[in-house]
Amino acid sequence: MSAAPQSTCPLCAGDGGLVLVRTPNYRVVRVEGDDAALHPAFYRLIWNAHVAEFSDLSAADRVACMEGVARLERVLREQLAPTKINLASLGNMVPHLHWHVIARFEGDAHFPAPIWAAPRREALALPRALDAVDQAVVAAWAEATTGAAD
Ligand SMILES: [Zn+2]
Repeated sequence: MSAAPQSTCPLCAGDGGLVLVRTPNYRVVRVEGDDAALHPAFYRLIWNAHVAEFSDLSAADRVACMEGVARLERVLREQLAPTKINLASLGNMVPHLHWHVIARFEGDAHFPAPIWAAPRREALALPRALDAVDQAVVAAWAEATTGAAD
């Protein structure tokens, strides 16, 4: 069913970023390296199983996936007050289900274009240290697990 074999999949072979949260279904990572150079508040929710399309998931798994995306989005909004959150699930390069969750700011390197377009200007500094944002992501899942939130 998948468009590329699991054996060559980088999201099966590796974590795909700095892992902040692991659940039985997915992991939440912060993207590092060149992909995040211009947009450091760039996170991903990566489904653990090698499925290509969102509709490959069961109804319950689709809910779990999007609840995770929404939780991550809420944390970025609270921590960074971005102009907009961009959600994207492309998978053209890596056909292993993952959602990009990116805090965007007016005046950032691509705004208002997608981050995959040609850059228009230099990178914009974030309003808050990424360590603090990462810690808030970890805390959001810890609180949800213990029933203190949601
Ligand atoms: Zn994979």
